[in-house]
Amino acid sequence: MKRFVYLFNEGNSSMKELLGGKGANLAEMTSIGLPVPYGFTISTEACNDYYEAGKTISAEFQEQVLASLKKLEEQTGKRLGDPSNPLLVSVRSGAVFSMPGMMDTILNLGMNDETAEGVAKLTENPRFAYDSYRRFIQMFSDVVLDVDTFFFEQLLEEFRESKGYQSDPELTAEDWKEVIAGYKGIVRKHTKKDFPQEPKDQLFLSINSVFDSWNNQRAIVYRRLNKIPDHLGTAVNIQSMVFGNMGNDSGTGVAFTRNPSTGENILYGEYLINAQGEDVVAGIRTPQPIHTLQAEMPEVYQQFVDTCERLEQHYQDMQDIEFTVERGKLFILQTRTGKRTAQAAIRIAVEMVEEGIIDKNTAILRVDPDQLNQLLHRRIDDSHQRNQLAKGLPASPGAATGQVVFDADEAEALGNDGKKVILVRAETTPDDIHGIVAAQAVVTSRGGMTSHAAVVARGMGKPCICGCEPLKIDLKNKQFTVGGTVVHHGDIITIDGGTGEIMLGEIPMIDPQLSDEFQLLLEWADSARKLGVRANADNPVDAKKAFEFGADGIGLCRTEHMFMDTSRLPIVQKMILAESYEERKEALEELLPMQQGDFEGIFEAMQGLPATIRLLDPPLHEFLPDKEELLVEVTKLQLTESNAAELMEKEKLLKKVRQLEEFNPMLGLRGCRLGLMFPEIYEMQAKAIFYAIAKTTETGLDVKAEIMIPLVGHVNELKKMRQLVMDAAVQIQEETGKEFDYTIGTMIEIPRAALTADQIAEEADFFSFGTNDLTQTTFGYSRDDAEGKFLQAYIENKVLPDNPFAVLDQDGVGKLVSTGVSLGRKTKPQLKTGICGEHGGEKSSIEFCYQAGLDYVSCSPYRVPLARLAAAQASIRN
Ligand code: PEP
Ligand code: MG
Repeated sequence: MKRFVYLFNEGNSSMKELLGGKGANLAEMTSIGLPVPYGFTISTEACNDYYEAGKTISAEFQEQVLASLKKLEEQTGKRLGDPSNPLLVSVRSGAVFSMPGMMDTILNLGMNDETAEGVAKLTENPRFAYDSYRRFIQMFSDVVLDVDTFFFEQLLEEFRESKGYQSDPELTAEDWKEVIAGYKGIVRKHTKKDFPQEPKDQLFLSINSVFDSWNNQRAIVYRRLNKIPDHLGTAVNIQSMVFGNMGNDSGTGVAFTRNPSTGENILYGEYLINAQGEDVVAGIRTPQPIHTLQAEMPEVYQQFVDTCERLEQHYQDMQDIEFTVERGKLFILQTRTGKRTAQAAIRIAVEMVEEGIIDKNTAILRVDPDQLNQLLHRRIDDSHQRNQLAKGLPASPGAATGQVVFDADEAEALGNDGKKVILVRAETTPDDIHGIVAAQAVVTSRGGMTSHAAVVARGMGKPCICGCEPLKIDLKNKQFTVGGTVVHHGDIITIDGGTGEIMLGEIPMIDPQLSDEFQLLLEWADSARKLGVRANADNPVDAKKAFEFGADGIGLCRTEHMFMDTSRLPIVQKMILAESYEERKEALEELLPMQQGDFEGIFEAMQGLPATIRLLDPPLHEFLPDKEELLVEVTKLQLTESNAAELMEKEKLLKKVRQLEEFNPMLGLRGCRLGLMFPEIYEMQAKAIFYAIAKTTETGLDVKAEIMIPLVGHVNELKKMRQLVMDAAVQIQEETGKEFDYTIGTMIEIPRAALTADQIAEEADFFSFGTNDLTQTTFGYSRDDAEGKFLQAYIENKVLPDNPFAVLDQDGVGKLVSTGVSLGRKTKPQLKTGICGEHGGEKSSIEFCYQAGLDYVSCSPYRVPLARLAAAQASIRN
C-alpha cells in the first residue's frame, strides 16, 4: 500500500521530492524543536496519482487523510467541525521547487455557521470569529468554487459605504454577520449551491483544488520559465491555524535572515500587527520593518532573532521565514532558502565562507551563473543629474529606461516587438508574469520588499521599485501623476532599482564594475576550474574589457567587423567592385594599415595572452547595400534623368550585388572559400597580422597570435590556406628582419570537418568549434529564419527542449564536437581545442565542453565572469 500522508513529525528535509519544499521544511523544523503549528503533508505522489486516475481521489487516499486528521486532532486537542473546540486549518500547495505566488492557499478551513459561533465564544472575540469566517468564504469561493473575489470585494465596499465606514476594522461582529449572509448569497447565485458547511467536504474539495492548481496557467508559465519539469506534481500541506489577527498582541510577517537585495548580514523583513497570513505578501497594506518589532514585542523579537540564527546555521544558507504571533506567542510557519539578487548571492556566499559556515566549493556552487548577468548590467552614470520624480522601495537593483505601460499584455506585445517598456502597476499578481518577463523593469505603487513584484523581479534580475506611494495611477486616462507632474502612457522614464528612484526621460548609463566579493569569488573559481575562458572580441575596446573581466585570451576575433566601420566600408566596397586583380590589390593596400592598427591595439590590450584571429568569413554581399533599396534608387535616378554619373555608379553597384546574390548565402561563397577564390584578401589580412606582431614585439610585449581559417570542410582547403599564411609570414619576417611565433588553426563548424577531424588535424595547430554554424548545418536550420519562423513554436510544443542556438544540443551537435576532439587528438594528442559559438557563455553548454575535454570556451566579454564561474562549477560537480 502506498503511503500518501505524513505528519510533520514523521518527515525531514531530505524528503523534498515526496513532501515538496514547504512540507519537507515544516517537518525538518518540527524535528529540531521549533514552534511549528501541527499539521500533515499530502505527498506529490498523491497528486500524480490523482492525475493518473483522471483527476479523482481514491478511497484509500481518503482514508489515509482522515486517519492523519484524527492524529492532528489528538495533537491539537481540537476537532474539525466541533463547535465547542473547533480545529481550523490552512491548506497550501508545496511543490518540490518553490513557485512563489503560483499556487493558491486557503486559510481558516473548518469554519461554518456553528464553528464560527464556537470560535466567537472561545476567544470571546466574536468580531474576530466572523471576520475569519468571511475571509474563509471569500478565499474558498475564489480558489475552489471559482467565484471571483471581485464580487465579495464589491459587496464589502458597498456595505462599508452604506454604514459610512472608512476601513474594515470599523466593522462590528454584527456587521460581519450581515456581510457573511451576503457572501453566501453570492455563492448561491454563482454556483447554484449553498456554501459547503461540512468541514470534511471543505477539506477534500480544497485538496482537489490544490492538485488542480498545479496545472493552472500561471503555474505552467512559471514552470516553463524556470525549467521545472511538469511531472513533479505538488504536495499539499494541511496545518492547524494560528492567528495573527487576534488583536494588537498578534501579528504576522516575513523575514530573510540576510538582506536579499544586498546580502548584508542583518535581519531583513517586515510585519503587520493584527493581520492574517497573506496580508504581508499580498502587498495590500504596506508593512513595518522588522526591527520595530523589538520595541513592540521585545521578547517575541528576541525569540525570533534566535530562531532565525538557528535556522540559518541548520540549513547553512540564508532563509526566508514566515512567522505569526498569536497573543504574544511566536509560531514559525515556513522556512525556505531565500531568493536573492546576484549581488546578495555573492556576498552571502563569500561571507559564509569567512564565517566558517560553508567551504569555498560550496560558495562557488551557491551562485547561479545566469544570475550574474544582473551585475554585468549597466547602471546610471552618476555624472549625470538625476531629476528624481518619485522614490519607492529599492526592490531589485539595476537601472532601466523605457516607455511607460500599465498593462502586462501590452508590455508583452511591445517587448516582443523589441521595444523597451517599463511596467507600472498598483501591484502585480502572478497573472502579470508574462508582462514582467517582457519589460525592462517593474514599478508598483503599493506593496513591500516581499510583494509579488519584488520577489519575481529579483528572481529574474530585473530592476524593480515597489511601494512607490506618491505615484497615483489613473488607468482610465492611461497616465500616472506624482504631485503635479503627469506622466502619460508611452512617455520615457528611467528607474534605478538600487535606490528606488524614478526619473523622467532617458539618462546615460555606464558599464558595471565587479565588487570585491565578486572578484574574490571569481579568484576562487579560477583556482577550481580546469577549463579556460576566453572572450570573443573584435576590437581593442572589447579586448580591454575581456582582459578586465579576467579572460584567459581572445578565442575569436571576427575580422570582418573591422571592415564594417563606416570609414572603411567604402574601401571594402572598392575592393569588392574591383574589375581587375590590380584594382583589388590597390584597395587591399589601403585596408592593410587599418587592420594592422586594430591588431596592434588588440595585442597590446591582451598583454601577452593568446589571441585567435579569424580571417574573413561572411559572404561579400554583406558589405554592399541592400538590393531592393538600390533598385529603388536606380529607378528614381533613371526617372529624373539628371546626375548621369551617380546613376552609372549605382548601376554598377547593383550589377555587382546581383552577381554576388546567392540562394543560400550561409552555404555559399564565404569562409575559406573566399580565401581560395580571392587569395589576395587573406594574404592582406595575414600580412597585417604579421606586421602588427613585428611592431608590438618591438615594445617588449609578448604576442601569441593564433590565425584561424573559417568554414573548412575538407583538409585540402586548410592545406592551401595554411600555405598562403605561412608564405606571408616568411615574407614579412624577411622584410622586417624579425622572427616571431604564431600558430595556424581552423574553425570546426561544418559536420564534415568534425567527421574528418583526424585528417584536418594534420594541417591544424588548434581547433575552435564554431557551434553557431555547426548547429545551423547539423540541424539544417538557417539560424536567421529558424529563430523567427518556427523555433519558438518548436520549443512551446516541446519538439525541442531548448533553442539549440542558445543551449548546445548535446545529443547531436555535441556528438560532433566530441567526435572532432577525439579524432583530432588521435592525430595530434596535444591539439588545443576550444569553442567560440554563442554556447561558450551558457552554463550547461560550458559543463558539456568541460566533459568533452575542450581546453577553453570563448564568449562575449560580458559573459566572461559567468563562464569562469560555470567552468569552476563544472570542475567541482564532476
Ligand atoms: C560560429 O559559427 O560558431 C562562429 C563563432 O562563427 P560566426 O558566428 O561568426 O559564424
Ligand atoms: Mg561560423
